[in-house]
Amino acid sequence: MNPEVLKVVNTAKTYRISGGFFHGNLDLHAVSDVSFTVRQGEVLGLVGESGCGKTTMAKMILGLEPLTKGDILIEGKSIRSMSYREIARKVQPIFQDPYSSLNPRKSIGSIISLPLRALGIGNRRDWDEKVREIMELVGLPPNLRHNYPNQLSGGQRQRVAVARALIMRPEIALCDEPTSALDVSVQAQILNLLIDLREALGLTYILISHNLAVVEHLATSVAVMYLGRIVEQGPAAEIFNDPLHPYTQTLLASVLTPDPDKGLPEVRLDAEYPNPIDMPPGCSFHPRCPRAEEFCRTTLPETLIDGERKVACHFPGPPRGTA
Ligand code: SF4
Repeated sequence: MNPEVLKVVNTAKTYRISGGFFHGNLDLHAVSDVSFTVRQGEVLGLVGESGCGKTTMAKMILGLEPLTKGDILIEGKSIRSMSYREIARKVQPIFQDPYSSLNPRKSIGSIISLPLRALGIGNRRDWDEKVREIMELVGLPPNLRHNYPNQLSGGQRQRVAVARALIMRPEIALCDEPTSALDVSVQAQILNLLIDLREALGLTYILISHNLAVVEHLATSVAVMYLGRIVEQGPAAEIFNDPLHPYTQTLLASVLTPDPDKGLPEVRLDAEYPNPIDMPPGCSFHPRCPRAEEFCRTTLPETLIDGERKVACHFPGPPRGTA
């Protein structure tokens, strides 16, 4: 079994926000009691609707948000005892919109070498050498190093974002919706590039996405988040073939399918998403859950563990009518 590169242990993030004149300050629980482990070479897909806490989780892993509770270990070392520089050498982000994340006034060579320059690693000759190497690895012609972002196609800009993230050879690349800003025709190229780089560099990915097709294509394991908690996790093939949590089943059913025999999903996710500062009691999914019982409205489900499968539900199992 490959070594653990990332271990998230009972992590929580709470923001204190103003509730206005009548309510004073309120707590917004963006992430609650989240735990997962990622081993070297794995691709963990972190999925869920907007506002489920996946981006806050990403910011904590990048050291951009302090933890309220729990811990995050990178190669066994607590993030609480690591400097921002140390974290940046281990974990690098690949953002969703390469155009807005690339400085339009900087040349491509300068953008790609930025992490090395910002952290004071090497000298000008090293930077040039490493930029040349990484551009070749991500499939960018070397002459583009003197160009500017607006002279590149969307796919080339995303390759620049990937090159910038990987120039320091981090252990973990944290990909936040890596293809959502790209044309469909280019998305497959970037996904295949990420797969090739994972093998070539022994990378570990955390893939944050609401696009289940992207997650299915890339992920080796999946964690499904709902209102700040992980409700189901396990090997990707098992989650996609045999989801046990009603929310995972709803997410998968809401992906458009060309098969008319499958009919319409039992629950539609355009139903109202609960307010995270006024969470439903008990299981927070109960207002939308087709399987909810009275017990679910009052009692938070514990996480049930069966080998690598974990599910937080009082009544896990296949969707009704299919068992
Ligand atoms: Fe639905 Fe109850 Fe399971 Fe929550 S605990 S997902 S409400 S069945």
